[in-house]
Amino acid sequence: MRLRDLPSVDELLQDQRLAAEPRPLALAAARTALARAREEIQAGAEPGNLVERALAELGSARTPRLRRVLNATGVIVHTNLGRAPLADLALERVREVGRGYSNLEYDLAEGARGSRQDHVAEILRRLTGAEAALVVNNNAAAILLALAALIEPSNSLLLSRRDEVIVSRGELIEIGDGFRIPDVLARSGARLREVGTTNRTCAADYETAVGEQTAALLRVHKSNFRVVGFTEQPRVEELARIARRHEIPLVDDLGSGVLVAPLDPSNSLLLGDVEPSARESLAAGSDLVTFSGDKLLGGPQAGIVVGRADLVEKLRRHPLQRALRADKLTLAALEGTLALYLEPERAAREVPVLRMLREPGETVRARAERLAAAVGGEVEETTARVGGGALPLAELPSFAVAIEEELAARLREGDPPVVGIMRDGRLLLDCRTLRDDELDEVAAAVAAARA
Ligand SMILES: *Cc1c(COP(=O)(O)O)cnc(C)c1O
Repeated sequence: MRLRDLPSVDELLQDQRLAAEPRPLALAAARTALARAREEIQAGAEPGNLVERALAELGSARTPRLRRVLNATGVIVHTNLGRAPLADLALERVREVGRGYSNLEYDLAEGARGSRQDHVAEILRRLTGAEAALVVNNNAAAILLALAALIEPSNSLLLSRRDEVIVSRGELIEIGDGFRIPDVLARSGARLREVGTTNRTCAADYETAVGEQTAALLRVHKSNFRVVGFTEQPRVEELARIARRHEIPLVDDLGSGVLVAPLDPSNSLLLGDVEPSARESLAAGSDLVTFSGDKLLGGPQAGIVVGRADLVEKLRRHPLQRALRADKLTLAALEGTLALYLEPERAAREVPVLRMLREPGETVRARAERLAAAVGGEVEETTARVGGGALPLAELPSFAVAIEEELAARLREGDPPVVGIMRDGRLLLDCRTLRDDELDEVAAAVAAARA
């Protein structure tokens, strides 16, 4: 075909199937198909049937871009793959609340305006022992709001403005994708006062730094790395004592929110690395504790703040709260997730992140064997990871099916896409992060990729 043989847009749109489509969509699809065809002709290729191509364009314009993916990476809280998959109960709550109206900000007993923050506050208090709780969009927002609300307003005319927040140099972390905790903190209006060194910070470093302008002590969990060797870090209790003495709050950013027993150190899978729980941090004297909803907690993206009632109230009244608050679907999913935690054994079975973390290696091996039988690959022992900046040292025994590396790209482009890991010239499909009921789809995807 030559360029001048190409039909015009109008001619293309006269095709019955394209004419039956909404005009703007069909027009855009026809233009794209023609533009591609022109490029191909110039490159010496045959563009094929243009109506078919325009219809394919239309089809792809209608396909959702945010899609389900089969995670065969063995990274449980995979930040790039949507972090925590939700429990069925959480999804049911989303559907129920999202389909119609809800009492999001309505007090049914009073018949008057209520607060969206009340719905999950009680269950969070129960699960953490806190006096009060508040939920915002994510943990970065939680820290931002906490600091903004705890410092004196930046337009204060007071000479000795309390706007300084003391934090250890060993905790100024980057959480991923170039986002650094110190940059987030600075946006709250707080001035960061760094103390200690990368590997060692002691209680006296904080003590000496506290002054007239100190608004809070901040502890940031070293989520995604560990410093080993010659290290020192004060315990929460020690920091809490200093905070009390100077009548300033201690804020503890936990990163991953561990709520209950399923992740305690007695879980042999996780030996060697332990995440502190919100309850422990509060019991040790933290005034406010912040954590994510979609890391180890296994719920929706959210930032949870628990702690002293007077401080939580300050956060709730701060103007940023309005900008950072969680929406009703998040609150519904969070409530559904937290409800499972009231029965820890049920949470361990039904919260997908907890289930994947605790699944015995033998069960994963059996799954890998079934997949290997279906796709003709080899079962291989490997190591799964917690991911999401939690428990970076934890190694979870796992089993994968090794197949041809060349399939990786086609599997990613498949429907549904399958993402594995490349290693030593093969593609490993780690079965710790796959569900039993996903195996048939993975097998079909591999067959399609080979065809
Ligand atoms: C992940 C993490 C954050 C950010 O939490 P998001 O929910 O992703 O906003 C903040 N602090 C720590 C210590 C973290 O691990």
